[in-house]
Amino acid sequence: MKPLFDAGIIGGGVIGLASAYYLAKAGLRVAVFESGKTGSGASSAAAGMLGAHTETEKDDAFFRFAKESQALYPKLAHDLLLESGIDIQLQYNGMYKLAMTAEEADSLKKRAEIEKDVEWHSKEKVQEYEKGITDAIYGALKIEKDGKLTPAALCKAFTKAIQLMSGKIFENTPVYKVSRFEGSHYEIETPQDTFFCEALILANGTWSSRLIKEFTRNIFVHPVKGECLSVTMKDGKLSSTVFHESCYLVPKLDGTIVIGATMKEGTWNTEPSVQGIAALMNKAVKIMPAIEDASFQRAWAGLRPGTADSKPFIFKHQGIPNLFVATGHYRNGILLAPKTGEMIRDLFFNRPAAEEYVHAFRMDRAAGVKL
Ligand code: FAD
Repeated sequence: MKPLFDAGIIGGGVIGLASAYYLAKAGLRVAVFESGKTGSGASSAAAGMLGAHTETEKDDAFFRFAKESQALYPKLAHDLLLESGIDIQLQYNGMYKLAMTAEEADSLKKRAEIEKDVEWHSKEKVQEYEKGITDAIYGALKIEKDGKLTPAALCKAFTKAIQLMSGKIFENTPVYKVSRFEGSHYEIETPQDTFFCEALILANGTWSSRLIKEFTRNIFVHPVKGECLSVTMKDGKLSSTVFHESCYLVPKLDGTIVIGATMKEGTWNTEPSVQGIAALMNKAVKIMPAIEDASFQRAWAGLRPGTADSKPFIFKHQGIPNLFVATGHYRNGILLAPKTGEMIRDLFFNRPAAEEYVHAFRMDRAAGVKL
């Protein structure tokens, strides 16, 4: 039986869509299988920060991968606008990481001395740029290159661009079984139909462990619930993303501010809780007191695909032909999507992919990681 598609991608979140997009651009016939609507999983819950510098303080493979991914966004945003007509609202207004104690100030000042692209701003300088920030700060680290975008627009733009390249998007199509068919191609079983494809890309985020288990027991992805809310300010405004510890304030182009995000392991529940939203509101008011007078817009929650070492799995299976995995992007799937898509494309075509990334995101590293 002839495969219908060159590549079948399971999961229509930002990672599956980015993989499908770069493969379709390389001329492949792709199909994305998505249980619900594309972008309806963790990707729709994301705040949209491209926080390469805010997510890690180590200059390691993950950091370099994140920076390369971040750097792909201006071209990607331009291409997606031309291809799909959708503006992903990419902005580079920078981020402020606040110091609320003398110790935090010392530590951030040290980072400013040794790291590129970051600068220490005194309290007065921060308040000159961001008038509404609390008087309680000691200053902040300004991270000029960390930008933001609108994740829902990104997923819509990917979806449309893939379709315009003749890629197929099957929404409301949960995959319940995948198997190698007569050693030559893959069979994808859904309630609607059975599909055949030459290669398989498993990219269904938090839910990926179950399907991956058919091929390897080495990796495990677990849900880490995150809650957010959005508000509109009556007085005052914010232009940079501002954050302190586990709370960030992300101003959006439509005037809303997204406040996030809680972290809770061990639950599959996706409803925002009063406890989580109240905690975020309290933290946000401490950062920007005028938030107390803002109008509440909405609250939501999503499940981050977590891994034991908080790093994604992006690899080509060494023992099973044409099987690829892109999952476990945890807190950074929006940031890491373009580079992940490119890496899946390069692995697919056996193009040289950076050795350090192949090593850092390989399947069997989990053996050395405490699960
Ligand atoms: P998902 O978006 O969850 O997509 C997986 C898809 O697979 C889902 O749509 C699901 O329906 C589908 N699926 C599952 N099983 C099947 C099946 N059997 N068959 C077919 N389809 C299936 N990241 C950032 O970079 N910046 C941020 O600012 C940021 N903020 C965040 C805030 C919150 C509150 C949360 C929860 C996450 C945030 N993240 C952020 C993380 C980011 O959202 C995730 O890392 C990213 O969305 C993961 O993408 P994904 O495609 O792997 O997963």
